[in-house]
Amino acid sequence: MLERHDTDILILGSGGAGLFAALHAQKAAPDLKITVAVKGLMGKCGCTRMVQGGYNVALSPGDSVERHFMDTIIGGKWLPNQDIAWKLCETAVIRVRELENEIGCFFDRMPDGTLHHKAFAGQTFDRTVHKGDLTGIEIISRLMEQVLAGPVERMEEHRAIAFIPTKEGDALAGVLLIDMRSGVFRFVRAKAVLMATGGGPTMYRYHTPSGDKSMDGLAMSLRIGLPLRDMEMVQFHPTGLLAGDETRMTGTVLEEGLRGAGGQLLGGDGRRFMFDYEERGERATRDIVSRGIYSEMRKGNTSPNGGVYISMSHLGPAEVRKRFSGMVKRCADSGFDLAAGRVEVVPTAHYFMGGVVCDPDTRTELPGLYVAGEDAGGAHGSNRLGGNGVANSTVYGGVAGDVMGLEAKSMSALRDPDEAVIEEEVARALYPFSRTPGDIHSIRDRLMNIMWDDVGIMRTAKGLEQGLARVRDLEAELLETGLADDDMVFNLTWHDWLNVRSLIEVSEAIAKAALSRENSRGAHFREDFPDQGDLDASYFTVVRQKGDGLKVEWERVDFTIVKPGESLIEDMSPVQAAEQR
Ligand SMILES: Cc1cc2nc3c(=O)[nH]c(=O)nc-3n(C[C@H](O)[C@H](O)[C@H](O)COP(=O)(O)OP(=O)(O)OC[C@H]3O[C@@H](n4cnc5c(N)ncnc54)[C@H](O)[C@@H]3O)c2cc1C
Repeated sequence: MLERHDTDILILGSGGAGLFAALHAQKAAPDLKITVAVKGLMGKCGCTRMVQGGYNVALSPGDSVERHFMDTIIGGKWLPNQDIAWKLCETAVIRVRELENEIGCFFDRMPDGTLHHKAFAGQTFDRTVHKGDLTGIEIISRLMEQVLAGPVERMEEHRAIAFIPTKEGDALAGVLLIDMRSGVFRFVRAKAVLMATGGGPTMYRYHTPSGDKSMDGLAMSLRIGLPLRDMEMVQFHPTGLLAGDETRMTGTVLEEGLRGAGGQLLGGDGRRFMFDYEERGERATRDIVSRGIYSEMRKGNTSPNGGVYISMSHLGPAEVRKRFSGMVKRCADSGFDLAAGRVEVVPTAHYFMGGVVCDPDTRTELPGLYVAGEDAGGAHGSNRLGGNGVANSTVYGGVAGDVMGLEAKSMSALRDPDEAVIEEEVARALYPFSRTPGDIHSIRDRLMNIMWDDVGIMRTAKGLEQGLARVRDLEAELLETGLADDDMVFNLTWHDWLNVRSLIEVSEAIAKAALSRENSRGAHFREDFPDQGDLDASYFTVVRQKGDGLKVEWERVDFTIVKPGESLIEDMSPVQAAEQR
C-alpha cells in the first residue's frame, strides 16, 4: 500500500544534524511545515547521542579559528574542502554558545567558570568542550526538548528508502519511506529535503556506530546519480573495547580523551609500542595509532582476545575514576578494570569521512536536496579529528536549516514526482519477499569480515580486488535470499535485508575508491603505495553511478585558503611543520 503526504521541509534523521536543522528551519521559516522522519525513535537513535569525548571549538585565549582550521586541514592531509572546513571551525564558536545559551546544554567548567577543554589526539591545542564523557546525551536531550516544544511533525520508525525525482529529473520531488510499524509505503513530497542519516561504517567486523545506521542515505544518493567523495576514507578509532565475540559491547569505543590524558597502549608482551611508530606515541592521529595497533596484531603481539591493552592506572585509579566515570563503568560492565588494570582494545570502524558532494551551504547537485552531518563529504578530507564530528553535524545541521528555510519560503508549489520511479522503488524494496528464505545474518557477518580483512586498515591492490569480488558475490547471494516471514508489519528481518543491501552497495563504492587511490593519505593506507603522493597535486576521489556500474574519477583539491607548505598560524609544532609537506 502507498500513502501520500505533503510537507514543506523534510528532514531525514534526528541526530545532531537533523535536530539542529529542524530548529533553524523553524526560525528561518516559521510558517512552513517541517517534518522529521527517522528510522529509530527521536532522541534515542543515531550516533550524536553516543558522543563521549566532546566538541571541538576554539574559545580559549591562545587558540584561534585559524589554528583549529590548520589542525583540521593537516589532520585531513590536505584533502578537505577548505571552505567547508573553515566554516566548520568558524561556526563552531557560535554553535557552542547557542548550545549553552539557547538550547540549555551545560558543559563542564573550570573553577573560574570558563569552559573546560580537554586534549584530543592530533590537535595542537586543548579545545574539546565536553560534559564528562557523556557529551552526546547532554546535547541530544536538550535539543530534543527544544524541537518537541515546537510544531515539528514527527515520523518515527520511518525508514527512507529512495529519493524520488521529478519526471524531468531536474530536481527532487520527495522521498519514499517505509512506515516500519505498519509496513506501509509512504511518499512524502517536500520543497526541501535534508539528508542527515549519519553515514556510519557498520559494514566492518568491529564498529562503533549505532545499529540503526546502515549507510541508507549514501546508497540512495548513489542510486539517484549523485557524486560521493572520499569514499575510501573510513576512520578506525584505535580503542574499541575488545571483550570477546559473545558480547555486543565488543567494538564500542573507549574515548580518545583516554589517550589524550596519557593512556598507554601495551602489546601482549606488556611493552608500550606506539613510539615505535610515531614520535607523538599514543597522541598521534587515529589513523596512525590504528595502524600501529593493527601491525602489532599482525605480529601476534596480542592480548587474549587478539587485540592490545590500554592502561591508565599510572595516572592514579582515583583520578581515572573521577575523570572517566562513564568509561570506567562501561569497562566494568564487560569485566575490565580501566582505573587500576588493563583493558583489551582493538581498532574499530568509527566514522565515515566520505559523503555526498555539497557546497558550504549544504546544497547538493540535485535542487531540493541538502546534506549535513556524517552523510556530507568534504569537511574532514582523509581523517576526521576527534571532536570535529559532532561540531560538523551541529554546525551544518544549523546551516541547512537556515538555507532550506529561506529557499523553501521562496518556492510556491511542491514538485510532482516521477510516478514510474516510485513504482520501481516500491518493487525494489519488496523484492526479498519474492525469494526463497535464507540466512541474512550470515551474509552480514561475512560482509563484515571481508571489509575488515580486505578493505580495512592496511590495504593492497590484491586484497582490494579480492574484497570487491567477494562483495559482489555476496550481493548476488543476497539477491537470491528471501524472508521467512511475509508479514510487513514491523518485520525486522526485512529491514535487516534492506540494511545489508545498502551496506553492500556502499562497500563496493569504498573498495573501488580505495583501489583507485594509489597513495596513502590519512585513514587510507596502501601497503603497496605507502607514499602520500604530491601534496600540491592533491586530488579527491568521486564515485558516481554511471550506466550499470560505479565509476571513480579524481578531482583536484582547490586550495582556496591555504596551500601545502603555507600556514595561517606562526607557531606550528615540529610534527605539524613536517606534515605540511
Ligand atoms: C560511540 C561514538 C562516540 C563518538 N564520540 C564523538 C566525540 O566525542 N566527538 C565527536 O565529534 N564525534 C564523536 N562521534 C561521531 C559523531 O557522533 C557523529 O559524527 C555525529 O554525531 C553524526 O551526526 P549526524 O547527525 O550526522 O548523524 P547521527 O547522529 O548518527 O543521526 C543519524 C540519524 O539518521 C537516522 N537514519 C539512518 N538511516 C535512516 C533512514 N534510512 N531513514 C530515516 N532516518 C535514518 C538515524 O536513525 C539517526 O536518527 C562519536 C561516534 C560514536 C559512534
